[in-house]
Amino acid sequence: MSDSLAKLRSYFSSPTGKLALTYLMIIMALTIIFSVIIFVIAADQLNRPLPPQFEGRGGLMQREQFREILEQRASQARSMLLITMAILNSVVLILGALFSHFMARRTLRPIEKAMDAQNQFVSDASHELRTPLTALQTTNEVALRKKKLSLAEAKELIGYNVIEVVKLRELTNSLLGLIKQESATIAKQTFSVHDLVSEVSQKFIASAQAKDIEVDDRTTNVTIRANMLAVEQIMTILIDNAIKYSPKQSRITLLTKETNDEVCLIVQDEGEGISKDQQSKVFDRFYRVDQSRSVSNTEGTGLGLAIAKAICDRQGMKLSLDSENKGSIFTLHIRK
Ligand code: ADP
Repeated sequence: MSDSLAKLRSYFSSPTGKLALTYLMIIMALTIIFSVIIFVIAADQLNRPLPPQFEGRGGLMQREQFREILEQRASQARSMLLITMAILNSVVLILGALFSHFMARRTLRPIEKAMDAQNQFVSDASHELRTPLTALQTTNEVALRKKKLSLAEAKELIGYNVIEVVKLRELTNSLLGLIKQESATIAKQTFSVHDLVSEVSQKFIASAQAKDIEVDDRTTNVTIRANMLAVEQIMTILIDNAIKYSPKQSRITLLTKETNDEVCLIVQDEGEGISKDQQSKVFDRFYRVDQSRSVSNTEGTGLGLAIAKAICDRQGMKLSLDSENKGSIFTLHIRK
């Protein structure tokens, strides 16, 4: 008994229980109000005096008997009405409780899912932030413990510190970028794909040259209606990745493809490619294919493609990946 009472108490102190109780109270308040209104109207009708034509007929005895019978029947009808309403209200209470629980679960499920995703994000983010912070702390502590620190050693340490701080700044910028997508506007403009792609490519001239990579821009001058900033952000992420994960002296091709209902922006590289089983995972937050390959590439945070996907989801665009044995093809689909 005390066990089921404790269970009931814990249910009603849970978010589902509290919401279900609120729904049930609303349902019951409405049902009781309607029941009272119906009862008052019905009782009023039953209490109506005898019509005048009965007044003059028959003897006094007969009229009194008749009135008594009518009053008895009215009182019986009132009792029946009360019992029926009590039964109906009890049925509504039971069905309403079940319905309220179902509705509360339905309302809370997406909120719980969002909360879980948020918690996961916070724990992933803190884990990613903790790793470089711990490395910074240990190297600095070790250096501090040394009796003598030469100028060369001090410079090396400072150099290492700067690299880690830059990584941390990149990571926090990416995290902020990801959060901002939730509230980003979806205002659309009409613009030329080719103009936008050449503008983005300009940013990568130096990094492409450093690896002797040729960026072959074959985009056509098709115009699209989309959020320009969003397309620019996605293309920046895709071209940046293509350069990061391509070997020296390779080629990156930028293409457009137009169908009846969409315009596609394509970034194609000659890198190692991404295996089939990794293809859906690369869009997850903090996921990096083959840690050794990615870690040797110090610039990554594992957030680029997650940000690109978040932008697509928010802006009604789609990002797909095609990669066989060699090279990757990332396609941004923009509906016309
Ligand atoms: P990162 O900051 O690590 O680049 P991303 O989310 O942009 O994070 O990419 C996730 C992972 O997907 C990368 O670590 C890399 O292993 C893989 N990846 C992304 N783009 C490419 C590409 N063009 N070629 C090969 N692998 C890629």
